Amino acid sequence: MPRFPAPSRIKSHRIYTVWEAAEALGRHRQTIIRWIKEKGLIADRSQRPWLIRGSDLKVFLGQGRKKSRCKLNLHQLYCLGCKLPQEPDGKFADYLQTTPSSGMLSALCPDCGCIMNKMIRRADLGAVRAKIAVTVQQANPRLVFCTDAHSNVTFRDEDQTHVKTRTR
Ligand SMILES: [Zn+2]
Repeated sequence: MPRFPAPSRIKSHRIYTVWEAAEALGRHRQTIIRWIKEKGLIADRSQRPWLIRGSDLKVFLGQGRKKSRCKLNLHQLYCLGCKLPQEPDGKFADYLQTTPSSGMLSALCPDCGCIMNKMIRRADLGAVRAKIAVTVQQANPRLVFCTDAHSNVTFRDEDQTHVKTRTR
């Protein structure tokens, strides 16, 4: 069972009391009250019973679902191809520092070969490295640009040589 029931059981245009919302979702009434008080579920608290719009409840549940779905272990990345959390192929990943406190972890999916990326905190790098091998890359966009430009020139020269050889 998912931790949060499907929001499709809630009708957007209906107004729910805490009791009705709890019943519709199969949750305890106190859970709904906690959602309102602590988790930011929007409700009309100006009168009793408190009233919740179905559409607000749907939005709230959607957010909750998204959060629990994206929960990955530190050394796992989410593969967009497999739509699953995956451990890097060969337990090997690259880390590119993008801000002083965080960076991008990149690795290949072992199942489909897609490149998987995720932002991690620099402080978590040690814990990630305890599970998989991580190569720390230095950001240097200029170097990448030069390499590209060079290979373009090489290709063009080769083409010209090829044409000349043919016309002779
Ligand atoms: Zn994959």
